[in-house]
This record gives sequence, structure tokens and C-alpha cells, in this order.
Amino acid sequence: MQTVDVLIIGGGIAGLYAALQFSSDVRVCLLTKGEAGISGSALAQGGIAAVLDHEEDSYEYHFADTMVAGRYKNNPAAVEQLIREGPAAVRDLIHLGAAFDTNDAGALQKTLEGGHSRRRIMHHRDQTGAEMVRALWARVRERSNVTILEHTACVDLALLPDGFLAMLDVWVGARHDVPCGYDVPLRTICAGFVILATGGIGQAYRYTTNPAISTGDGIHLAYALGAKVKNLHYVQFHPTAMPPLAGESSCFLVSEAVRGEGAFLRNRDGERFVSNYDTRGELAPRDVVSRAIIQESRRLKDTRFALDITQKSSDWLKARFPAIFAECQRRGIDMGRDCVPVFPCQHYLMGGLDVDLDGKTTVPRLYAAGECAHTGLHGANRLASNSLPEALVWGKRAAENIMRCLRAGFASSSGAQTLEARAPSEPPSTLQTQQLADYAAEIRTLLQESCFVFADKAALPNALLRVEEIRVALQSAQKTTETCEVQSMALCAKLIMEGLLNEPDDA
Ligand SMILES: Cc1cc2nc3c(=O)[nH]c(=O)nc-3n(C[C@H](O)[C@H](O)[C@H](O)COP(=O)(O)OP(=O)(O)OC[C@H]3O[C@@H](n4cnc5c(N)ncnc54)[C@H](O)[C@@H]3O)c2cc1C
Repeated sequence: MQTVDVLIIGGGIAGLYAALQFSSDVRVCLLTKGEAGISGSALAQGGIAAVLDHEEDSYEYHFADTMVAGRYKNNPAAVEQLIREGPAAVRDLIHLGAAFDTNDAGALQKTLEGGHSRRRIMHHRDQTGAEMVRALWARVRERSNVTILEHTACVDLALLPDGFLAMLDVWVGARHDVPCGYDVPLRTICAGFVILATGGIGQAYRYTTNPAISTGDGIHLAYALGAKVKNLHYVQFHPTAMPPLAGESSCFLVSEAVRGEGAFLRNRDGERFVSNYDTRGELAPRDVVSRAIIQESRRLKDTRFALDITQKSSDWLKARFPAIFAECQRRGIDMGRDCVPVFPCQHYLMGGLDVDLDGKTTVPRLYAAGECAHTGLHGANRLASNSLPEALVWGKRAAENIMRCLRAGFASSSGAQTLEARAPSEPPSTLQTQQLADYAAEIRTLLQESCFVFADKAALPNALLRVEEIRVALQSAQKTTETCEVQSMALCAKLIMEGLLNEPDDA
């Protein structure tokens, strides 16, 4: 059995940046469920927010904007930490090879997004996340102390007296012809410390911008160990996404930066309407704009909405938003001439594993960073472009904290006894792929219908009962990636529903 000092579960921005903080004598193993390039991070378009210029901007403005967007439910200490440590992380990223757009004089270009009172968002055209991930992967692959296991999902974590035993399953994508639970021995790995960096939960919803790997596995793995999960019902819906094309699992996001550059939202009659609901209009925080669309949709009994940026030329749009422009073209839309059809969908999780300022969960030696963690930074609603810097700051802090523990002599366990102790007394049940797919589809429908932009409190109790039934049906299922994913989605659905039911109506 392989033993490492640190197991990092996730190869998005949080996991990669954490991996780079360890010195060469620390044995690190980093897992990604799919290919290295598939992550929420790689899809980030708009940019990364940080105050790098104190003439026109200030920490105080960024602090105030973050608190307003979060409806003052943020943890001020977490906001302060992000704002003060984010700029150094951005500079470090540049040093590590990430390129951000610059003007003719070579200065960083900064854009505006909803909820920001100043231009403070650095970007790489509309592919900021892909550029950051590219640079970080290149650096991580140079590290001889980091073992990378792609297509490898952690499907179970057991707590040892001095670390963890992780069970790993090979994941090659959907296994359509093979019944789940087929007899492949799971690989195990022992680690003194674990950092969960598994990203979001979007695939639990029918419509989401999140990639296929975003099923909330880290939350499920940690919850099973007794970790505290906080505010899972703080889910963000992005107002402007295009629906998935046939055979695809994610909606395509039309970045807030498009509104930052002057785009308007129009209803089916071509009228602008957002300022009827909020005086900040299209540049209000995204939860406000999403609610405006749903209210307008109810008023008109119509779901046709569009983003209009035809005041800019196609050439300008193609240069500034090449990925969005190309996606629109794939759908037969020329952004410089046509309006882009959009509607809200699930986008981001503010809640998650309760962590402190160093990314420590409530379970000893277990850390979390990035979207699976609840740092308290975002409050009830994330300010645009604050999650990439959060993943960097908390990823770094978690690694630094573990380094301090290792220096203080914390050892890693061999874990053999635990493996024996955890052998199940009853043979696990085998679920067919179709059955799992049906459960997944049902969870998505339940969440979409009862927990979308405005929660349907009348529908929630029955939805919750059904999710509990699904959880029971999955309880003793054999451990595979697919069962872990559906179990994770079911747990997230349950916690979201419970959170919404407990939320006062005027919250
Ligand atoms: C379309 C889109 C646009 C966005 N735009 C922006 C933006 O402009 N600015 C901004 O600040 N934020 C943006 N965000 C949010 C931001 O990208 C994410 O919150 C952030 O990148 C999450 O990083 P992460 O490292 O926590 O997770 P991810 O980048 O999602 O990485 C998760 C990793 O965990 C792995 N994993 C998951 N489960 C398992 C398992 N069981 N075993 C092993 N590995 C596992 C995955 O394979 C993956 O490597 C955007 C998000 C999306 C989806």
C-alpha cells in the first residue's frame, strides 16, 4: 500500500496551488477524477479580482463590495484575508507563468463585473481559468515530490489515528455497458493529511455551468467522517447562460464581463427590464439579476430572454471574448449582430465544508480549499471573480498549515489495520448503471423544481422525503465512482433542502 504525507483530492486551482507550496521532501499525491484539464477552474471566464492598484481602488472598496454582494452574511475576517492575501497570490501566478491581458503600455488590463465598484478584475481574454490552470499544471508536473493520478476518483475516506486511508477507483468516464459494482479491486493509499479540493456541486442540478466532475464528492467524503458542513443552501445562480446542446451536460456561461463591457438584458419584447427590479440594472450582483429575470419571466409567462451587446463590433467582441464568440457562432449567433438567448442556471456553491482561515475542517488533519469549502468569504452570494483568488489563498494556507504540522513531527500511518477493520460484514449491493442514472436524474429534477432561484417551500418537504429514500437505497451500494457521485449529489440535495426549509422567509 502506498503511503504519502499529503493527499490532495482535486486538480483545479485550489489543489494545484496547494501542491506547489510543499517543499521537495514532502510526499504529495494529487488526484483528478477525469483528465487533468477537466475542472471548474478551467472553465472560468471573467477573471480574478484583486486590488493591485491603490490609486483608483482600495482594500476598503473591495471589502465593501464583497460584503454588499454577500448580504452581510460574510465572515469579515475571511473577507479581510482574501483581500489582503489575494494580490500576492495573483503576482505569484504571474511569476509562475500565467499571462493576463495587458494594455499597450504593458500594464495589466482590468475589467468590471456586476457588484464591483472599481475595475479590478484581471483576465486572460475570456479564458482566464484555462490560462491559470495551464500555468499551474506545468509547474506541478515539474515537481518530483508530487505524484499525479489522473482518471482516479477517491470514493471513500477512512479516519486513522494518524491520518487517512483513501479508496481510489479508476474513472474513465461513463461506463455505459458495465454494471456498476463490477469486481475491480479498489486501490488504497494512506496519507497523513488530506486536502479536499473537489470543486462544486452543480451536476446535482438539471441546469448548471459546472463540468461533469462537479458532483460534490468532497463534501460527501468529509461528511461521512463527521465534518461540519455549513450553509449548503447558499447556491448561486448565474443570470446569463445558454442551455446545454444535445448530449452535453453543462450550460455555456456568458460571462458577467460581457455586461461589464456594456451588454443589456432584454425580455421577449426587446425591452430592458432589470432596472425595474433594481436601480443598479445589469451591473447589480448576479443573484439580483437572476431574480429579476425570474420575476420578469413570471410576469410575462415567458422564458425568452437575451443579452444584447450589438453596440460593439463583431471584431471587437471576437478579440475580447473569443471563447464566447466561438460558442455563439457554433450555435449560429453573431454576437455583434444578434442578441444571445440566455437564462439563469446553477453556477456556484457558497456553502460547503466549514473551514477556518487555514482551511482546516472540523476533522483533524482534514483540510478543504476552493469551491467545496465554506470559508465565510462569500456570505449568501459570491461577488464575481472572488472564487479564483479564494481557491489560491485557502489552498496556500492549508498547505502551509500542514507543512507546519509536518515540521512539528506529525507522522503518517500505514493504515493496514483500518483496511481490515472496514471490510464490510455484508456483501455490498450492486446497482445497475441505469438505476444510478435514474436516481441522478430524479435528484436533478427535485432540486431544479424546488430549489431554483426562488425556493418552492411548499414542494420542499416531499422533495426532501424522496431524496432521503434515494439515500437509503444507495446506502450499502458497492463503492465505485458512479455510486460515490450519486451519493454525493443526494447528500448535497438533502442539505440544500434542509437549509432552505430552516431559512426564515425574509432571508
Ligand atoms: C463556467 C464557469 C465560469 C467561472 N468563472 C469564474 C470567474 O471568472 N472568476 C472566478 O473567480 N470564478 C469563476 N468560476 C468559479 C471558479 O472557477 C471555481 O469556483 C473554482 O475554479 C473552483 O476551483 P476548485 O479548485 O475548488 O475546483 P475545480 O476547479 O472544479 O476542480 C475540482 C477537481 O476535483 C477533482 N475531483 C472531484 N471529485 C473527485 C474525486 N472524488 N476524486 C478525485 N478527484 C476529484 C476534479 O477532477 C477536479 O480536478 C467559474 C466557474 C464556472 C463553472
